[in-house]
Amino acid sequence: MEFVERYNGSGLLIEVEKILYEFKGVQHIQIFQTKSFGKMLVLDGKIQLTEKDESFYHEMLVHPAMLMHENPEKVLVIGGGDGGAVREVLKHDPKEVVMVEIDENVVKACKEYIGIDRGALEDPRVKVLFEDGLEFVKSCKDKFDVIIVDGTDPNPISQALISSEFYRDCAKICDYFVTQSQSPFAQPDYFKSIYKNARFKNKAVYLGFVPTYPHGLWSYLIASDRREIVLDLNVIKERFENRKIETVYYTPEVHISAFALPRWIVNLIS
Ligand code: SAM
Repeated sequence: MEFVERYNGSGLLIEVEKILYEFKGVQHIQIFQTKSFGKMLVLDGKIQLTEKDESFYHEMLVHPAMLMHENPEKVLVIGGGDGGAVREVLKHDPKEVVMVEIDENVVKACKEYIGIDRGALEDPRVKVLFEDGLEFVKSCKDKFDVIIVDGTDPNPISQALISSEFYRDCAKICDYFVTQSQSPFAQPDYFKSIYKNARFKNKAVYLGFVPTYPHGLWSYLIASDRREIVLDLNVIKERFENRKIETVYYTPEVHISAFALPRWIVNLIS
């Protein structure tokens, strides 16, 4: 059997050995055992993660912002039901992590059939809330050192997570904000509107390689109203080493180079 995800008249084909789980609720959740990527989570027909390359994505989503902050004690993750982002956040030994996920079924299914959180969601420092991230942030009285948005491709429930209203509310309650910002090559319109709507004082886009995301090229947006975007290799390296973080993809050198954008991407956002 084959799973095919299409984007703009092309796509990615993955050989499936077995369907491990399927449920239609808030989202259509499918978990497959694949031949070359291990277990794979698909939501509404879109690949969210595979065991083989999820660390590429989660490490690049989490570590740049966490290392730009000198002492990230309190972290908010919006979305991220598979637990991969929280797993990476815990490597920085924060005091408190709040994860706000709209679909409880994703969390249950991922814990039972994939397990990439490796126990992170059971950690006593982690609080998991099942509600809409947009509503949570709107009425939030707390402040966070870092907010990480690990949402699905824009769809009816996640569309709000790329709105200027959501970004404005986040800006008020955090030092650093980071979100995945889609594929500049396969989804240039979403990429451009995320950049445009994120009206923070400081912001920057960086890139990463995720083989099972559209055309393999993925982007992230980091922003802050209060802090600078830190691209000093010595600072990042010192924090990375002091925190004794182990990674598969991320290194401080990769961090710095990820912010060098090809001309065509600069043109999309200028
Ligand atoms: N890494 C993935 C990607 O870029 O393809 C994202 C994976 S993660 C499973 C995305 C999660 O965001 C889903 O579990 C989904 O339920 C959650 N989500 C979508 N919209 C949301 C919202 N408005 N509030 C909170 N969580 C949301």
